[in-house]
Amino acid sequence: MQVFVKKRMVYVFAFLVLFLAALSYPVAVKAEAGNYYLSMGEYLSGGMRITSLNGKYFAMMQTDGNFVIYQSDTQKALWHTNTYGGNYTSYRAMMQTDGNFVVYGIKNGAMTALWNAGTHVYGSGTYRLELGDDSVLRVKKNGNTVWNSPNAPINSSGWSYMFTEADNRYISSGYKLSERPDHYGIDIISTNGYTYIYGDAIRNVSAGNVVVSQALNATAGNYVVVETNTIDTNTNKKIKVRYLHMKDSPSVTIGQIAQGTIVGYVGNTGDVSPKPTSSNPYNGTHLHFDVNNQGKNSGISSADALNPQKFFPGITFLGKTSTVD
Ligand SMILES: [Zn+2]
Repeated sequence: MQVFVKKRMVYVFAFLVLFLAALSYPVAVKAEAGNYYLSMGEYLSGGMRITSLNGKYFAMMQTDGNFVIYQSDTQKALWHTNTYGGNYTSYRAMMQTDGNFVVYGIKNGAMTALWNAGTHVYGSGTYRLELGDDSVLRVKKNGNTVWNSPNAPINSSGWSYMFTEADNRYISSGYKLSERPDHYGIDIISTNGYTYIYGDAIRNVSAGNVVVSQALNATAGNYVVVETNTIDTNTNKKIKVRYLHMKDSPSVTIGQIAQGTIVGYVGNTGDVSPKPTSSNPYNGTHLHFDVNNQGKNSGISSADALNPQKFFPGITFLGKTSTVD
């Protein structure tokens, strides 16, 4: 694979040279058998970046295993590979000679593909990765695009979905459906049933502040409320999100919280149905997640609530989804 700089694009290596010069610690920038990659270990907090020529966007391989495109001035995430992989010691984003762009997790020398662009294009030719001035990441073969990230941001707020596992996108009770119009959030289980989501890590969807970190409320169970940095354009208030029925006491305390931080683990505490019993301890397991634009910490009503699905347009929800606004 050849890498070369063109007028309108800054490519991986040109930027890495500059970025490495700004880092005081060693970072792997390697080529193996014709494959070029960005790599970082968990000890790094900054990460390695590809920047668009106009400087408005950068893409980064992160320590949490996610490869993300950001808006430079706001640090807002516009798109990501949705591949949090917390159990690896380092991660690698690789532009391969087979035309595929892949994110790997690495542990004990073994590489596991966590996500790929799905663009295997064989035969002779030159592949390269570009981050355009339009924030779109492209895999090109001989100058022709063979794959691109969505050209729209993941959403207007730059929120990320709270689960890594693709299975965790099944909604057992949707937002304000006719069968349950007073349900102002979504109940997330797994495609395969609730047992498989019990204990799964819940990651904060958007940076902001933890304003409630509560153990064992009778209704909400163990729960967390985060005031995000996202301002609602209708109310001019910061949008708040709630994570309910967690397995254990919240993993976070009052104060600032980053996107992707684990707030707790999926459980069935508080008022869930069916109730867990000694013989069926996983009964009622789900994550209730809701969103409001009136600054509410609890008791969300119809007028305050927003459809959570709308904040994750990159996620294909299954089950009892809702199109209600
Ligand atoms: Zn619910």
